[in-house]
Amino acid sequence: MARRELGKYKQANEDLDLFINGGGDRLLAAQARELLSKYPVEDINLSPSTTPDPTDHLANEVHAIGLKEGDPFTIRESNTQRGCCALATKKIRRGDLILSEKPVVIVGTGKPQLAIQAELRGLSPTHLNSFLHLSNGHADCSCFLAGQRAIGIYSTNSFALTDDQGGIGLTASRFNHSCSPNARFSFNPTNGQLRIFALSDIPVGEEICVAYLSSRRLYGQTRQHRQGILRSRYHFTCSCSVCSLPKAEMILSDSRRVKVNELWDKVPMFPPNQTIQRLNTIVQAINLLEEEGYAADYDDFTNDAALICAYHSDYESSKYWAKLTYETRVAEFGEDSPRAAEADSGLVRRKEF
Ligand SMILES: [Zn+2]
Ligand SMILES: [Zn+2]
Repeated sequence: MARRELGKYKQANEDLDLFINGGGDRLLAAQARELLSKYPVEDINLSPSTTPDPTDHLANEVHAIGLKEGDPFTIRESNTQRGCCALATKKIRRGDLILSEKPVVIVGTGKPQLAIQAELRGLSPTHLNSFLHLSNGHADCSCFLAGQRAIGIYSTNSFALTDDQGGIGLTASRFNHSCSPNARFSFNPTNGQLRIFALSDIPVGEEICVAYLSSRRLYGQTRQHRQGILRSRYHFTCSCSVCSLPKAEMILSDSRRVKVNELWDKVPMFPPNQTIQRLNTIVQAINLLEEEGYAADYDDFTNDAALICAYHSDYESSKYWAKLTYETRVAEFGEDSPRAAEADSGLVRRKEF
């Protein structure tokens, strides 16, 4: 999560003081401090040819998160309460890979506390510094994570990598949330990379946002419901483009999303002799998502259409829907992703009938 105040850049040693004062593991902090003393923080990640300006907090920050030459985005201070944000620095097209990074602090979802501390012990000083600069949504709250800084940072910023593992993307965590995101993160277990793909064309200067909520919680819920989840889990009030719509448009947006959710539940309930109605319902859901300006997850519906057409031996239609499903997954998760492969093998399987 990107809600850090860039203007108050602190040195890593000060962060370690906070870490200890916040109840962090003293042994871990001492080890990190010893490592940091060997590598002055301002030298970390700076190429020898550049002379860092100690007053340029943003430059320090950017180096701390390791942006690479050629990345189509940068991290900038935002003029809203959202702290920093990712902005496109190049024209990005739907399906473009925006970021690919190896997640760190990978722990099981069961008992994270000790596992997180063990993982932090294994981080390089640069990565630990980066981790400690991520925002802690639980810093000023009274929930059970108050005073547990490392775990607060982890739970504020971690992504679900698999069903039973989460991890931190030191750069991915700087991307803000939107309820109509123009990018999506995913984890590819084959190459171990956490990636962000563009969901729509993004012009230079536009903020790149991902979703912190999964599909149906996002496209199938009202603003009040989405904000409730985001507030309880991350302690922030979403002010994305959808959540800040004027009242009349907000009512329309809410009713579209509630309708899509109803259609999702309705689709599998059609008996085999009502396949036309089922396909019409699928098309209606996709049209609503388009009207809503929501650019992801159409494959939730097109895949069902492919399967039901195959069930009725309408292979031409099935191929059409399966192709849409495959193309959606290639754009949103990458051609080499398990989800695209699954859709692709679905196509092959139906061709063999
Ligand atoms: Zn909290
Ligand atoms: Zn929102």
